[in-house]
Amino acid sequence: MIPTPTDRAWSEARHHIQTAVAHLVTDAYGSQAVTWQPVFPGAASRQQVADPLPGLWTIKYLDALIKSEARRYARRARETGHPWARIGAMLRLPDGADHTTGQAAFVYLADNVFGEQSFTWCCSDRHCGQLIHDYGPGADHPDEAERGHASGCARHAEDLAAWARAENGPDQIDGQGR
Ligand SMILES: [Zn+2]
Repeated sequence: MIPTPTDRAWSEARHHIQTAVAHLVTDAYGSQAVTWQPVFPGAASRQQVADPLPGLWTIKYLDALIKSEARRYARRARETGHPWARIGAMLRLPDGADHTTGQAAFVYLADNVFGEQSFTWCCSDRHCGQLIHDYGPGADHPDEAERGHASGCARHAEDLAAWARAENGPDQIDGQGR
């Protein structure tokens, strides 16, 4: 069973976001851009609500901030050895007709630089420690999927060995989805 926060916890998270929006709008536009309103029609308790246009601007900014946090968590996941397929499964991304779960996760999280998608993280192998340019699970060869590993990197050597085993015997596919 997949763990999911309770409705109450989601509701509290929503309240925290609304509070953050009101705080940011007050900071940028002053307190006249925020009003106290009932938490729902007819309710006795009230909460601060930002005016619509400053609120929208702030939420766009928060959206970018949340995405950068997602990338930070994904970077740590890749650094600690989680393959893209596992990241995609955790994000509940389905296998599609034209992409795997891992590819969907990569597309969701990668940066787009001059039309090419890549994702950077630092290899945690003690013989490596290099900044890796990750081109996702769709690459044909580990050297194309992850560029930048040092020659003595054990993690990359494992990926290369798994790729060689998969090439030699399709029944022994191992380590796919990196
Ligand atoms: Zn490495």
